[in-house]
Amino acid sequence: MPIRCEIVSQDRLVYSGNADIVIVPGITGEMGILPNHAPLLSTMKYGVLKVRYQGQEEVFTVAGGVVEVLPDAITILADAAENVDEINVARAQEAKERAEKLLREIPPEDADTYLKIETTLRRSNLRLEAAKRYGGRHPIRSHGLSEGEKE
Ligand code: ATP
Repeated sequence: MPIRCEIVSQDRLVYSGNADIVIVPGITGEMGILPNHAPLLSTMKYGVLKVRYQGQEEVFTVAGGVVEVLPDAITILADAAENVDEINVARAQEAKERAEKLLREIPPEDADTYLKIETTLRRSNLRLEAAKRYGGRHPIRSHGLSEGEKE
C-alpha cells in the first residue's frame, strides 16, 4: 500500500498523490518516510523534498514548514513550495539580485530587515540550485501544454 502525500503551501495545494517513499528535508537531516511509518510531527528546513512512486520521482523545493506523518498519509505544510519544473528561473534570479543589492544597502543595525532579506535570498538560491540540478525532467509539464494538447 502506498502512502498518500499532500504538499500544501500558504497559497495553494502544490501536490496530492500516492508515494512509495517521501524524502523530507528534516531539521536534523533528510528523512525517508515509508508507508506505515509511526505518527510523527516534525519541522523542516529549507531544502528539496522528493516524492517517489512506481519508479517516478517528483522533486519540490520547500521553504521550511512542518511535516505530519500518519501510517497512511504524509502532509507537508510549507511556507512556500513549488515543483522544480514550476520554478521560474528568471524570477528567482531577479529576486536573488534584488535581495543581494538590498543586503548591501541596509544599515547594519537594522537586524530585522537584514534577516528578512536574507531569508528571501536563501529561498531564491534554493530555487536556482534545485532548478539547475533537478529541473527539466518533465518537459511536457514544465513547458505547459504539449503540441498535441494545444489544438
Ligand atoms: P518574488 O520576489 O520573486 O515574488 P519571493 O521570495 O517573494 O519571490 P515567496 O514569498 O518565496 O516569493 O513565494 C511566494 C509565492 O510565489 C509562492 O507560492 C512561491 O511558490 C511562488 N514563487 C516564488 N518565486 C518563484 C519562482 N521563482 N518560480 C515559481 N514560483 C515562485
